[in-house]
Amino acid sequence: MKFATKALHAGIQPDPSTGAIMTPIFQTSTYVQEAPNDHKGYEYARTQNPTRSVLEANLVALENGKFGRCFASGMSATETVIKMLRPGDEVVSTNDLYGGAYRLFTKIFADFGIKFTFVDMKDLTNIEAAMTDKTKLLWLETPTNPMINIIDIEGAVGIAKKYGAKVLVDNTFASPYLQNPLDLGADIVMHSITKFIGGHSDVIMGFLGTNDPDLDEQIAFIQNSSGAVPSPNDCFLVLRGIKTLHIRMERHCENGVKVANYLKNHSRVDKVYWPGFEDHTNHEVAKSQMRGFGGMLSFVLVGDDMGDAYRVMEKFKIFSLAESLGGVESLVGHPASMTHAAIPREERMANGLSDSLIRLSVGIEDADDLIADLEQAIG
Ligand SMILES: *Cc1c(COP(=O)(O)O)cnc(C)c1O
Repeated sequence: MKFATKALHAGIQPDPSTGAIMTPIFQTSTYVQEAPNDHKGYEYARTQNPTRSVLEANLVALENGKFGRCFASGMSATETVIKMLRPGDEVVSTNDLYGGAYRLFTKIFADFGIKFTFVDMKDLTNIEAAMTDKTKLLWLETPTNPMINIIDIEGAVGIAKKYGAKVLVDNTFASPYLQNPLDLGADIVMHSITKFIGGHSDVIMGFLGTNDPDLDEQIAFIQNSSGAVPSPNDCFLVLRGIKTLHIRMERHCENGVKVANYLKNHSRVDKVYWPGFEDHTNHEVAKSQMRGFGGMLSFVLVGDDMGDAYRVMEKFKIFSLAESLGGVESLVGHPASMTHAAIPREERMANGLSDSLIRLSVGIEDADDLIADLEQAIG
């Protein structure tokens, strides 16, 4: 089955008791058993819920994986993976990491004796240099946030194999429509469903998918033990959102090309970060591992002045100033003061994340209106 058909049908059956074509919201905490331990596969809703099971089956099909689990948030999915590690273990990650993951790693798990190293992963030699015999996990995010760097997934997998380390890819920015890390050899694919997959800015949720039954068993064990599960109502909303994922992503990509090119030719814009440009550092890698370049991009104004950036952000009428991304409506954000405020300034600057960098999540509105909005805001 191809993507669009899977988005609508994979893992989804009409409700056997009524024929309802939409998966019901099983708003229940427990399930009645015939006799002790004689049940229909459901015992307690932290462990399993039918609405959640359908969503998991659908999503794992979109990632070409075998096992999938949904979590109360992207961060709880992240936390679950790190809880598989033990004191003394090491993780190598990107220096352009989602701010919340950076905070979780450095402010919480570092105190439990897990060591995190952050390197510029767009150059594979930096990954290789950071590997030790204690490295258990490579934590990739590609495209990265907010510098829109591209990391070569297959290249990173090759390095990890030599050291017996696992590879996780945070696939939030690409969505399963544009990139499937498991097909490229990654051990685990992670999503903040909150973003493109949910797509309507109304749900917080996370996902982990894998082909490895041992990893899935550990993930399920930690999920059930820790309990960060999504609500059945939210699972219903995400199932509904996924039905248009392919159409939304097409439009995000189309609008992304137009906005990126508009900004590139603007006299007040100094730099535009978007993997579709031929002069983007890893444009060729992006072309080979992604099916489109997406609607996420960042730019810096000429002069790199924070005040100028603030004035532009305040003027937008269609782009809304907000954290988050990947919804149908266009958003604008200021990573230095919003999503990435937890990262020390020197570290941000060293990675090119300047004080005046503006990030856009290009939505699915009419591109002419989006460009007119940029025109009046940038001037
Ligand atoms: C939002 C986000 C997360 C965290 O997900 P939540 O659903 O907000 O907990 C992780 N990684 C990336 C790339 C994100 O954009």
